[in-house]
Amino acid sequence: MDIPCTRAEMLALGWDEPDVVLVSGDALIDTPHSGTAVIARVLIDAGFRVGVIAQPDTQSPDDIRRLGAPRLFWGVTAGCVDSMVANTTASGRRRRQDDFTPGGENTHRPDRASIAYSNLIRSAFRPCAPIVLGGVEASLRRITHYDFWTERLRRPILFDAKADILVYGMAERTIISLASALRDGSDWRSIRGLCYAASAPPADAVCLPAFAALTDPADPDAAKRLFLKMFRLFADNQDSVTARTLAQPVDLRWLIHNPPAAPLETGEIDRVYALPFTQNVHPHDAARGAVRALDTVRFSLTSHRGCYGGCAFCAIAMHQGRRVTWRSSGSLVDEATGYTRHPAFKGIIHDVGGPTANMYGFECACKKRTGACADKDCLFPSVCPSLPVTHDPQIRLLKALREIPGVRKVFVGSGIRPDLVLADTRHGETYLDALTANHVSGQLKLAPEHSEPGVLRLMRKPGIEGLLEFRSRFEACSRAHGLKQFLTYYFIAAHPGCTEADMRRLSDFAHTHLRLAPEQVQIFTPTPSTWATAFWWTGLDPDTGAPVFVERRTRERQKQKDILTGEER
Ligand code: SF4
Ligand code: SF4
Repeated sequence: MDIPCTRAEMLALGWDEPDVVLVSGDALIDTPHSGTAVIARVLIDAGFRVGVIAQPDTQSPDDIRRLGAPRLFWGVTAGCVDSMVANTTASGRRRRQDDFTPGGENTHRPDRASIAYSNLIRSAFRPCAPIVLGGVEASLRRITHYDFWTERLRRPILFDAKADILVYGMAERTIISLASALRDGSDWRSIRGLCYAASAPPADAVCLPAFAALTDPADPDAAKRLFLKMFRLFADNQDSVTARTLAQPVDLRWLIHNPPAAPLETGEIDRVYALPFTQNVHPHDAARGAVRALDTVRFSLTSHRGCYGGCAFCAIAMHQGRRVTWRSSGSLVDEATGYTRHPAFKGIIHDVGGPTANMYGFECACKKRTGACADKDCLFPSVCPSLPVTHDPQIRLLKALREIPGVRKVFVGSGIRPDLVLADTRHGETYLDALTANHVSGQLKLAPEHSEPGVLRLMRKPGIEGLLEFRSRFEACSRAHGLKQFLTYYFIAAHPGCTEADMRRLSDFAHTHLRLAPEQVQIFTPTPSTWATAFWWTGLDPDTGAPVFVERRTRERQKQKDILTGEER
């Protein structure tokens, strides 16, 4: 069964009206890689009638009225990335291509899509069912945040979109509780994983600095120090075991940020992935043209969620959480076996991974009991001895997948953390052997991001010694298997703390030790809710309070990249 996207499809299911309508900035790709598809499938599985309107025309009410008004709520998402990131490059140019839009042209996703869709709904439906924001854009803009595109702090997006509720993170638990409460007319305000506006904070809430104080023009330096304090409080309250309710004054009201929902455990994630995803673009969207993203995500397996990497430029922990939870091998084998029955499957599984491929199947026990350490990183400056690193579950999983009849190749396309391989004294070598022999599609992705200790410290990334050791082991394994395969390195230019001289040293390192001119170089973009964005905005190092150099000039940022790629003029 397709998720209904038209009134005819809804009526064919015997539904006279939807309970929930989800509105998305992406075409509807019915795979578990799409948050919209997951939320729709989870709600339908729980007995709710759900329709999806993908990429509605914001200039006319016709699209948004297609399914009629939902009985319970509208769910609004910009899509699987922030719409400003999707629409513009790090240098501020408009992107022409959009892999999540049929036909591939970037013509269907408005800037600040969560706000645009909320406005569209309100103008087309009066009175209007509650509007619930979700997805990455809403999740990472849920409190006062720096916005690179307007170069200022913005209020929590709930206020700018004038929405009623915001659901953050991986939202299956929260959305079912919320839909049930709205159906039953019960109070939803204590549900974990959501934000709402209120006239006063709950008695036990931790108060964040007010939006007005954070944007006070009278003392910008004090306001920036206050922003760092706010971000620290926010980051320290994202663990489902230890977090407290947060409250932030915004204009005359308060943003209430409930503690996160607990991550789904193995059996629960398995259940999500067992839902009847078609692995296709919905026919209504497919009729508008090919959706390139389908090629990347179809026949790729997500083995786990969450990441304890703690990289300063990455917001994954703010969205998926710092505790890794994983699917059972049986669930992954079942999904892959399903692929073999799909007419488009050519026997190749393109990826088995998650935010980082080799965090599957092990986690520090204390996180579930007492929560992750607030004062320590799990992988920085080195792998925490309490982390029971083992690649054995992933070795077994990959073997089980490649033994499925009809599967010819199983690749690991997600990046891996070399430091974890080196820290695994029992199984690291066997993992590398299996990986190089069977699971590298020509190139294996690594993300050292930089070589310079000062920059790496601000990035929260390990030093280059481990990288070089990993590389020599990888090359030795590949040689032993008679395979010519490579490592691809990802680097960041113009990260806070990074000077032109740092980039020149990185370039020397790449040429001397890696023997290449890197091609995978991103110019740092200060996206909402990362530590690196906090450095960018405040110009301060949160560890020491000392000023941090930040390259904000567009041409100089491009120059940093060009130094590394060899395109400097
Ligand atoms: S290891 Fe990867 S996913 Fe994890 S925090 Fe770092 S960049 Fe993000
Ligand atoms: S004990 Fe180590 S691995 Fe566990 S949460 Fe703390 S820092 Fe992370």
